Amino acid sequence: MYKISKDPNGTFLQCHDCSHIERIDSFMEDQGNRRTQAARAMQIHSREKHGPASVLQPIPKAAMLSSGRD
Ligand SMILES: [Zn+2]
Repeated sequence: MYKISKDPNGTFLQCHDCSHIERIDSFMEDQGNRRTQAARAMQIHSREKHGPASVLQPIPKAAMLSSGRD
């Protein structure tokens, strides 16, 4: 997950789980919407650095069911 922030240098996405940022300015307009590219890069970062659990919300009910099975 990430949040969108702004500073004097422009708009950027900031990772919730670490200090990693993706600057929208660093993407090229001719490759498509820059904010979309930044969001995609952030999703890749999140998956690689923090694992799929930080992208997909865990389902507490299912976790409780599976842990209480035995
Ligand atoms: Zn991160």
